[in-house]
Amino acid sequence: MHGRHVDRGTFMWGAAGALAAGGFASLPRPVRAAYGGGPTMTPDEALARLMAGNRKFVAGTLKATDALAERRADVANGQRPFAMVLCCADSRVPPEQIFDQTVGDLFVCRVAGNILEPGGLGSFEYAIANIGSPALLIVLGHQNCGAVTDSIKLVQSHQHAPASIQAIVEAITPAVTATAQGAMSAGEYTEAVVRANAKLVAHETVARSAIVKKAVGEHHLKVVAARYGLDSGRVTLLD
Ligand SMILES: [Zn+2]
Repeated sequence: MHGRHVDRGTFMWGAAGALAAGGFASLPRPVRAAYGGGPTMTPDEALARLMAGNRKFVAGTLKATDALAERRADVANGQRPFAMVLCCADSRVPPEQIFDQTVGDLFVCRVAGNILEPGGLGSFEYAIANIGSPALLIVLGHQNCGAVTDSIKLVQSHQHAPASIQAIVEAITPAVTATAQGAMSAGEYTEAVVRANAKLVAHETVARSAIVKKAVGEHHLKVVAARYGLDSGRVTLLD
């Protein structure tokens, strides 16, 4: 892989149904032109936009989807998402609403426990290397995450989860073992592991990917960890 022009012909998704017909080579010129190019804003601007959107979500004054039909038409032939989100599959953590964004704004991977899987990392690498527009990757853990709570119980009791659920437990285990419970209650400990897991995953996305590392090194991309409060609706950045 080399920079932004890697193997475009092998990627078959991302620009509406047009790609299903035969990849980038078959696309009309305007659609091809919608790909490539650098971020549309700086990482700090992207973060500020997300946090401003979250303040609207907290206040219950969502605006981003007001002109949804027009926006949907605008992005039908190409996407330029300004941020990427890795968040939990939990039904209470919908990133577009939490950050008051609309179609075409966020490149999202959701999986229980917001763990880093090869497919998720590959998706982010695709967005960076082929779409080129994201300036931010936010790893969003959340209050009372069931994947984290259950992983803690299983690790502490030396038990395994059934079927593929164990893969999620194993991905969260490093955050559990790296976090001492001490005098914390079960609830406090879950919160501590949620935060540790989000920070660890944010670190891993950079450590495991030459593409992410390069974008961060060139200051095109910032990777941050954050915590979402189910009760408050508020997103808090983690150090
Ligand atoms: Zn969760």
